[in-house]
Amino acid sequence: MAVGREIISRLKDQVTSDLRIMHVCGTHEASIAKHGIRSVLPPQLNVVMGPGCPVCITPQGEIDVAIDLAAEGCIITTYGDLLRVPGSKGSLESADGDIRIVQGIHKAVEIAKTTDKDVVFISVGFETTVPTVAATLLQEPPENFSILCCHRLVPPAMQWLLDQGEADLHGFILPGHVCAVMGYEEYEQFPVPQVVAGFEAEDLLLGLYMLVAQINAGEAKVENAYPRAVTREGNRKAKELMYEVFSPSDIEWRGFPVIPGSGLALKPGFEGYDALKRYEMTIPHIEDRSPCICDRLLRGLAEPTDCPLYGTACTPRSPVGPCMVSHEGACRIWHQYHR
Ligand code: SF4
Repeated sequence: MAVGREIISRLKDQVTSDLRIMHVCGTHEASIAKHGIRSVLPPQLNVVMGPGCPVCITPQGEIDVAIDLAAEGCIITTYGDLLRVPGSKGSLESADGDIRIVQGIHKAVEIAKTTDKDVVFISVGFETTVPTVAATLLQEPPENFSILCCHRLVPPAMQWLLDQGEADLHGFILPGHVCAVMGYEEYEQFPVPQVVAGFEAEDLLLGLYMLVAQINAGEAKVENAYPRAVTREGNRKAKELMYEVFSPSDIEWRGFPVIPGSGLALKPGFEGYDALKRYEMTIPHIEDRSPCICDRLLRGLAEPTDCPLYGTACTPRSPVGPCMVSHEGACRIWHQYHR
């Protein structure tokens, strides 16, 4: 931690005005909270979390459709984190039907091989999870298998945040996992300081230090503080797999409107695995009327403790919003480490 102390000391000299930095990764938030990083930063350096939790940004309409598919008699397979996320009709945990937790798409395919029923895998996640899903679909799973495609891409959401300008951001810490797959070439289009960071305390401190130095120098480029895992080009094979099966599509995020090109749709040769097409369903837009402020959290406009329900009406045992459900959600993470 001697390195960390040195970086903290240098950061204190570097930060001379109010700075707002956004990271877009639930694992970064967990590491920041676990290591108490905010408590050692200069008070003028404010690190906020953006839309970095794939479960949290899954809108109510997608949960509702998953519940509808269960009502149609499908076996719904999902990651455990998604089970308690509320839609407008309740959560998958409270829904009727055969709903099973799986570790990944391979387990869902195994289930499909043992039954005549339709099996639907709720396929969530950013760019990190997509190549595995693509590789599985390329292996031609059984005809009774399909996915509810809920994937999201990070760069279009960053573009949206920059276009809105509402979070008043000075720079971004880029997600190490996503960039390990995709590289950071795509982020070079954004005229804002950015640094790719890893997940150890020193990785994050180094990323913040490099970002502040870049801001002070008046530059706007992408730097890599995680070279042991990330290259500019990323994993070429994984990207090829991904775009062999999927193409970008317009999609709504929880807390955001429809963001152009921020989702992934199955390409024509793979549409047979699209549960929405198979059941002729569409994702409805649901107006969220709850007092939950997850939408503001996901846009970097609030902190969990700004929510009047935080730790009272909303706890990990009885979550009101998705940010208290997921292990990558800001409210859940803060509840675990900030008490
Ligand atoms: Fe939503 Fe609960 Fe977080 Fe409030 S504390 S923003 S209700 S998840």
